[in-house]
Amino acid sequence: MSFALHGLAVCSGIAIGRAHRISHALLEVPHYVIPAKLVEAEIERLDGAFAEVRRELGNIREAAGAAAAPPEIAALVSLHAIILDDPLLGQAVRTVIAQKRCNAEWALVQQMEELKEQFERIEDSYLRSRKADIVQVVERVMKVLTGLPRRPVAGRRHGQPAVVVAHDLSPADTVQFKQHQIAGFVTALGGATSHTAIVARSLGIPAVVGLREAGQLVRDDDLLIVDGTRGVVIVDPDERVLEEYRLRKSELDLDRARLRMLRSAPSTTLDGQAISLQANIELPRDLVQVREAGADGVGLFRTEFLFFNRKEFPGEDEQFEAYRRVAHALKGKPVTIRILDLGADKTTEGGFEPPKMNPALGLRAIRYCLSEPQMFLVQLRAILRASHYGRVRLLIPMLAHAHEIDQSLALIARAKEQLRAEKVPFDEGMEIGGMIEIPAAALSLGVFLRRLDFLSIGTNDLIQYTLAIDRTDETVAYLYDCLHPSVLYLIHRTIQSAARAAKPVAVCGEMAGDPLLTRLLLGMGLREFSMHPSQINVVKQQVLLANVAELTAKVAGLLRIEEPERLREHVARLNEHAG
Ligand code: PEP
Ligand code: MG
Repeated sequence: MSFALHGLAVCSGIAIGRAHRISHALLEVPHYVIPAKLVEAEIERLDGAFAEVRRELGNIREAAGAAAAPPEIAALVSLHAIILDDPLLGQAVRTVIAQKRCNAEWALVQQMEELKEQFERIEDSYLRSRKADIVQVVERVMKVLTGLPRRPVAGRRHGQPAVVVAHDLSPADTVQFKQHQIAGFVTALGGATSHTAIVARSLGIPAVVGLREAGQLVRDDDLLIVDGTRGVVIVDPDERVLEEYRLRKSELDLDRARLRMLRSAPSTTLDGQAISLQANIELPRDLVQVREAGADGVGLFRTEFLFFNRKEFPGEDEQFEAYRRVAHALKGKPVTIRILDLGADKTTEGGFEPPKMNPALGLRAIRYCLSEPQMFLVQLRAILRASHYGRVRLLIPMLAHAHEIDQSLALIARAKEQLRAEKVPFDEGMEIGGMIEIPAAALSLGVFLRRLDFLSIGTNDLIQYTLAIDRTDETVAYLYDCLHPSVLYLIHRTIQSAARAAKPVAVCGEMAGDPLLTRLLLGMGLREFSMHPSQINVVKQQVLLANVAELTAKVAGLLRIEEPERLREHVARLNEHAG
């Protein structure tokens, strides 16, 4: 049966493929034998997990009823409750624990495999397909038992492109997809500027997040259409819909191919203003896309991605090699390397434990680096060493206080002294900049402009902190508004203050890569944009059609508007002449 699910559009385009559910819970369960005297306790642990899942299912059923969700959800949840209470699952697993003395997780997987085999032998294809429901129920129990972080695997599915479907993915999970050919992905949780969504965009694959029912309604191998532009996922589409989407997909592919022809065109407005369009990257392997897009440099290297999916932080030589590779490959174009921005939704397996409460407001980014000066020095030395091999600029994230800048500059001076004493070459004049992504910073720019060589506006966090909404939370995503007058005021103020101080300023948040905002930002005075390489040519198309002098006058008027509807109308009107 075909049906559509609606979520938040993250990365435009269309993907057609088979669902690959990430069942992180089943991939790496611990296997061990328990002593006879602990068998009873182990069975109790299992029963506790069953009870917890029973509660969870009850809550989902209640919430679905209250939200008048499609009847399929209630039916599926009831089916899962029946499976959970079936003695073939619970009782049988207890018996395995008691007789074979396997730990609960191991026993559960064994019984699940047994049941799956029995279902394989059923002739009726509908009943046979219900084995996916058993796996889903077991996953739920396993998640409670282990509480382990997920460990996704992905790739093609029976020779067809895979669409990854997950409850939630961390940025660390998502970055692993860079190694796989994935057609698209869909998650139940997440906001459109969460780092998970940002990585999806950098992969250039259609993605929809915040699709709350996806985990319940999509099953392995279901045929899916992911419409990343409209934020829609169509499950099991009929032939007519499929044909329509295939057509739209080939049109979009054609548009993309045409845009690629802009690759070597200089990015200059109609009235001759040169605009720098740079790339955001997560790993040195993104250089391929940077080159393909013809970027004017790297405006943001999110170095924290080098720290993901490993138990220990990378050492100085390993970091140096990653930074050197990027600096060297850019052949004299600027490479802006950002200091480690761990925390909030960016976590690692080892070395750093983000605060449980309000992590976005806690020990994060520069705050964490300053609390670990030895670790900070390692990164500073690695970046300075790389500066010898290209035009490296250093960028400090999440600044709000003058003393954070002063302490960072003192540590940079110390790293330089050490390298000088060791006769290791580096660029003595390496520029140092700060991210403007906390409203307090945007409101006290003098402190930043006097101490730093350049600024980069992180609109993702600036919006999050100005409007007090968690950028990763799909339930408040409707409040995440880049056109809120307060946000526009802070961005405009920063651009204008930097211009008056003759200091370069860029935008490196997701706003820079949105072609619908290019003309607005140009009119605010922005001349440096940094975005996912996949967006560079779409934005360039807007730049080529823009007249900066005209836009400046129009935007000055627009910035005085406070009423959201009128403001949106004016932004839309700005784009009317954009072709
Ligand atoms: C931002 O906040 O806009 C930004 C570019 O940094 P990040 O998305 O990595 O927090
Ligand atoms: Mg940020």
